Amino acid sequence: AMRHLPFFCRGEVVRGFGRGSRELGIPTANFSEQVVESFPSDISTGIYYGWACVGNGDVHKMVLSIGWNPFYKNIKKSVETHIIHSFKNNFYGEILSIVIIGCIRSEKNFSSLEALISAIQEDIEEAKRQLDLPEHLKLKEDNFFHLPEGKTVNH
Ligand code: ADP
Ligand code: MG
Repeated sequence: AMRHLPFFCRGEVVRGFGRGSRELGIPTANFSEQVVESFPSDISTGIYYGWACVGNGDVHKMVLSIGWNPFYKNIKKSVETHIIHSFKNNFYGEILSIVIIGCIRSEKNFSSLEALISAIQEDIEEAKRQLDLPEHLKLKEDNFFHLPEGKTVNH
């Protein structure tokens, strides 16, 4: 399923359950069902790294989870981006642009919330290291992040 990478994607940030911030202290910007449906169906569930940009703001490192959405009884995927940057405010309704570059690990179950949080912290550190590699840094400057939003959802 790596043949789809790098994968460029753009869409509105919608509300989820609020669990990212509340329970984990790690907010994840959720894409709408429509954007998720436009993903290649054989991109595996798991944790990925790449670059992200809100509106026409700066491009930041990100980690992304592709998983099963409990709200839809796990029959639909959810795609959630944690941007490795401190934002002053929420950005619901804004357009999030991302490029997914590589996979960190597949989806896993954890025996405790602490174990899950420490795994995510490790994922974030791994994403930071990967994205500092010259071949990955290159994509930060991709024109995709500087083009007008237009109607493009994926390309
Ligand atoms: P929800 O379940 O609604 O997605 P979260 O607890 O996952 O709620 O928080 C996600 C929201 O937090 C995002 O939609 C965004 O507006 C905001 N946010 C603030 N900082 C970040 C960040 N660094 N990465 C992702 N989202 C962030
Ligand atoms: Mg979220």
